[in-house]
Amino acid sequence: MEWCGVQVRLVSNITDIDDKIIDRANRENRPWNEITHKCEAVWFDAMNALGVMRPTDVPHATEYVEQMVDMIGELMSSDSAYATDDGVYLDISSVPDYGLLAHQNLDDMLSGGGDREVLGAAQKRHPADFALWKFSKPGEPSWPSPWGEGRPGWHSECVVMSLQLLGEGFDLHCGGADLRFPHHENERAQAVALGKTFAQHWMHNGFVVDTEGEKMSKSLGNVTNLVDLVQHYDPRAYRMLLLQTHYRSPVKVGQDNIDSSVKSLANLDGFADRMAKAALPSMPADTDVLVKFREVMDNDIDTANAMAIIFDTVRRANIAVESGDTDICAALATAVHEMCNALGLMLRSGDDIDTAVVERAQQLDAARVAKDFATADAIRIELQAAGYVVETTKAGTRVRRA
Ligand SMILES: [Zn+2]
Repeated sequence: MEWCGVQVRLVSNITDIDDKIIDRANRENRPWNEITHKCEAVWFDAMNALGVMRPTDVPHATEYVEQMVDMIGELMSSDSAYATDDGVYLDISSVPDYGLLAHQNLDDMLSGGGDREVLGAAQKRHPADFALWKFSKPGEPSWPSPWGEGRPGWHSECVVMSLQLLGEGFDLHCGGADLRFPHHENERAQAVALGKTFAQHWMHNGFVVDTEGEKMSKSLGNVTNLVDLVQHYDPRAYRMLLLQTHYRSPVKVGQDNIDSSVKSLANLDGFADRMAKAALPSMPADTDVLVKFREVMDNDIDTANAMAIIFDTVRRANIAVESGDTDICAALATAVHEMCNALGLMLRSGDDIDTAVVERAQQLDAARVAKDFATADAIRIELQAAGYVVETTKAGTRVRRA
């Protein structure tokens, strides 16, 4: 979007209090905020590794509890919400088009049955009514409210933070496909009950699954989560894998496609390296290529076809350089860089790393192969101390300036 000249303010909120966090804190006998701080740090480390830009704002739910209490108060006074013995609930009959995002009517959703959020507390007026505020049990984290000590419901956290920071009628609300219902439906329901316009557009992304279509598990040897993945492979290869799938589709991650992604990335880096060494004239990016790129990206962010355009442009630039058409080649190469940058895929020409450092990286690989992990770790620490980022990939250790 920024590449198209759109000014972007991205808010990505952190749910730092909810039932799962409290359960885990009790189970592990740790303070709840120690768990949330740690998870947040791990998350942003992985995002940094993947080259995901920081959101403009990262609000924490616990910083907005007062505003959540205010909003629930408004819903109470307009009779859209009511209190029971265990909390405060939204009366979904006060929301005429409830079910809009789920593309289902309420009867169908209920006859499907079994959803943890749909069926619940006995005192609810309607089975689909959901908690805006949950009264706390002794020893649980809690905040004051006119209805009793407690904590906000998850759906109330998000709606307050997004309306507060982005304002009514903000442009776009994103999230995983699993959040469409009930979470996003319920966020929207509160805004509608308040008489406020919520998100104008919604985008829901598919899950990361293994090659069997199951939630990622053992398909990549000892890699079972994102943190492992970015330690074992060049994080850019994973980014490329995501880009090669349309965001609405499930992303299949398996040994085959991560390997082929590593290979494709090496080809792109190799291309960047050859172009850097070819002493090409400085040329603006090939316009036709960028027009085509924009066309596919404007079509619901079709990154899979955008990647295909990049590979095709690389192929044409290679042909041009071999036939001595340096101007054409330079314009195509500039276009490749511009498209890659727009997709956050930073190519490396390898020019800026000195041979001594490359040799140390090779020694690190040799030590790892020999299972001499103490030496491997020592070299890694030495390189990091010298200001390099050291990445372990399928193709061996990669080093770049931090
Ligand atoms: Zn949310």
